[in-house]
Amino acid sequence: MPDYKAPLRDIKFVMSELLDSEQHYANLEGAEDATPDMVDAIIQEGAKFCEQVLSPLNQVGDKEGCTWSEDGVQTPTGFRDAYKKYVEGGWPSMTAAPESGGQGLPESVGLVMREMIGTANWSWGMYPGLSHGAINTVELHGTEQQKETYLSKMISGEWTGTMCLTEAHCGSDLGTLRSRAEPNADGSYSITGTKIFISAGEHDMAENIVHIVLARLPGAPEGTKGISLFIVPKSLPNEDGSVGERNAVTCGSIEHKMGIHGNATCVMNFDDAKGWLIGPENRGLNCMFTFMNVARLGTAIQGLGAAELSFQGSLAYAKDRLAMRSLTGPKNPEGPADPIIVHPDVRRMLLTQKAVAEGARALIYYTAQQGDIVHKGKSEEARKEADELMGFLTPIAKAFLTEIGYEASNLGMQVFGGHGFIAEWGMEQIVRDARIGMIYEGTTGIQALDLLGRKVLMTQGESLKRFTKLVHVFCKENADNEQMREFIEPLQAINKEWGDLTMKLGMTSMKNRDEVGAASVDYLMYSGYAVFAYLWARMAQVALGKMADGTTEENFYNAKVQTARFYFKRLLPRTRTHAESMLAGADSLMDMQEDAFAF
Ligand SMILES: Cc1cc2nc3c(=O)[nH]c(=O)nc-3n(C[C@H](O)[C@H](O)[C@H](O)COP(=O)(O)OP(=O)(O)OC[C@H]3O[C@@H](n4cnc5c(N)ncnc54)[C@H](O)[C@@H]3O)c2cc1C
Repeated sequence: MPDYKAPLRDIKFVMSELLDSEQHYANLEGAEDATPDMVDAIIQEGAKFCEQVLSPLNQVGDKEGCTWSEDGVQTPTGFRDAYKKYVEGGWPSMTAAPESGGQGLPESVGLVMREMIGTANWSWGMYPGLSHGAINTVELHGTEQQKETYLSKMISGEWTGTMCLTEAHCGSDLGTLRSRAEPNADGSYSITGTKIFISAGEHDMAENIVHIVLARLPGAPEGTKGISLFIVPKSLPNEDGSVGERNAVTCGSIEHKMGIHGNATCVMNFDDAKGWLIGPENRGLNCMFTFMNVARLGTAIQGLGAAELSFQGSLAYAKDRLAMRSLTGPKNPEGPADPIIVHPDVRRMLLTQKAVAEGARALIYYTAQQGDIVHKGKSEEARKEADELMGFLTPIAKAFLTEIGYEASNLGMQVFGGHGFIAEWGMEQIVRDARIGMIYEGTTGIQALDLLGRKVLMTQGESLKRFTKLVHVFCKENADNEQMREFIEPLQAINKEWGDLTMKLGMTSMKNRDEVGAASVDYLMYSGYAVFAYLWARMAQVALGKMADGTTEENFYNAKVQTARFYFKRLLPRTRTHAESMLAGADSLMDMQEDAFAF
């Protein structure tokens, strides 16, 4: 397993030089503490924790996995201690509201920490990661009493949280869920049902676990309009806030799975468990949607993390491993062979990983800044604009980054040749761990429907236009910059084609709704490559500017421009396939009768 080294220089490049985080934080309401020095100190300190405490536990977690017994779930060696250190360091409270005991830092600062945690040890990071979702729910929709009882404990990290949505028969289609909630005389509810695949549903890291559960009230309307949200603690809190008697919620078993072995994926049984309604009756899914973008961005980080960690491992290996001679003559004449980094195909793999990891970082941080503005923007107009931009970018970030992050991790394994397939090197673990990213928090197929159907076509293309306008302005600003021509011309072309393709799909989908589903994943992937083109062009512009002004970091900035060039020449052309495929129509998918799918 590669030792994780936090890419602090690149983090700084994206935050400060590309996205001007200093100005961004200064423009927010109530983000006075996010000064450059403070943010820098937090990231430096966080990097140490991730490199020294979490990274060494990554392979341990994979090997040992979690253990279930009737008394609960035991996490792998070291996980519990690492969590204790995390809590002692005050990390869980970073972005929570000050009135609930949080530090009130903008979400985008928290996301940098989540990137470092997730890259160092994704399985471990899911325990606090799920808590984050639960905290957001209570913060936004809880009553004053619920906030008082649960928030400070969760924010301090003493208690963790889960999100209990999925049931055996439904994950994407929550409209069919069956868990029930019967009102009790004291204002509480009795929750009954079985939830599956609940991440961090049971563990030994915290004294209590607060489950956020979707269930139906008696007589609730069918479908998604009849789902309510409940707070169901593992142990009932006493009046004084301490942990009281056990509630009737138990972990029936844990799943044996392909990857993320260090995270407990639990079957949770609710047998008349005591719970309390959060938010209005039958509006559970709406309440969840209010922070869905943040949760999905959190999962997008898994793609970034997989690409980054895998790149770090394969780059070191490619410089060290000797095999054959360079096609243009020996590069290591004293040695028995050349290091494999001299071979064009190995470079193709390394540069793909690098372009994916750094492009992903730019996309996540950029989207996270929109999230900051949604919550702390100074004007109503700025908040609305950012909300719409974030809504458009989030399904792209979640699905595109987990797809190409997985590809990048596979390439990392390939760079290692046969050794990549052997467990001790840890490269195959990155592939196994990354695979779930395309499934949970809305599969790629579901994100693609959200993007093309709900975000783009239902707004008559307005959400897309908001973004393509930004690209257009950038292209115009750089029209006379000769050095940028190689990036601006293809970017302009893709930006125009994106609109044309959308219009065509809008027309065909009016005649046949299946056209949306038939085109959506190609549309999403195309959109991902288009967004990356914009961000890579911007990164090249910053780097070229720094070099023109004179810099002592010539290598760093040169590599940025060269990676941008690689991206435009070798990855952006993938849009050709997606463009053709998305216009190929639904017939070639739908014509075959179901019983003709024989084998
Ligand atoms: C390790 C792990 C951890 C998880 N953690 C949690 C958790 O903490 N909390 C929680 O509630 N859930 C969790 N889940 C559940 C996860 O979110 C679901 O598995 C996921 O949403 C997919 O649902 P499903 O498994 O029911 O698949 P289905 O919904 O049955 O989908 C099967 C396939 O059909 C496709 N599909 C379905 N409907 C459509 C459509 N309309 N158009 C096109 N394609 C469609 C899907 O894209 C997918 O490819 C976890 C799952 C795993 C494996």
